[in-house]
Amino acid sequence: MRLLLMGPPGSGKGTQATRIAAGLGIPAISTGDIFRANVADATPLGRVAREYMDAGEYVPDQVTNAMVRDRLAHPDCEPGFLLDGYPRTLQQVHELDSFLDEGTNRLDAVVELVVDRDVLVDRLLLRARSEGRADDTLDVIRRRQEVYAEQTAPLTAEYAARGLLHAVDGDGQVELVSERITGLLAGLGATSTR
Ligand code: AMP
Repeated sequence: MRLLLMGPPGSGKGTQATRIAAGLGIPAISTGDIFRANVADATPLGRVAREYMDAGEYVPDQVTNAMVRDRLAHPDCEPGFLLDGYPRTLQQVHELDSFLDEGTNRLDAVVELVVDRDVLVDRLLLRARSEGRADDTLDVIRRRQEVYAEQTAPLTAEYAARGLLHAVDGDGQVELVSERITGLLAGLGATSTR
């Protein structure tokens, strides 16, 4: 299966992506994680990404698209993949369409985690205390929510128009949300490897 997991910062996307992809035996590809690994290793990509990430802004499309194109070309993506945090702009949607058209691949489903805005901010403040992420300060959290609302929320209309969008309630325990997503995907024909 070729899947996208969408949802605002704090919706539990990263946690769910890892669980769902492991269950399906496909890689979870998180652009945020790849950027953070590059920042930690102080690579040239990390140096570019860092200034945007620390401000809660998106890394430029050109940089992000090139990185995803490389990652999707790895052989582990042949059976499918779950993209977490990409695409986030309409330009990235079009770019992803073009990568997939070059192969014979198409997306099978887009899952949107829906969570109330107050719950999101509370969750991120909690994560700030446990993980100490540089972009989990209150100002940056607010900016990331705004950027998501302006640039990424409109993508759901695009995927809904293609008949690919499935909204899932992202409120509740991690296990419960995972069950909602796996139930939905099973209904779409995805088979678990566990
Ligand atoms: P995340 O871990 O998904 O919340 O991403 C953390 C940060 O990485 C975001 O706030 C952006 O600065 C950057 N980032 C991750 N994915 C993308 C993307 N698809 N396009 C642009 N920037 C991204």
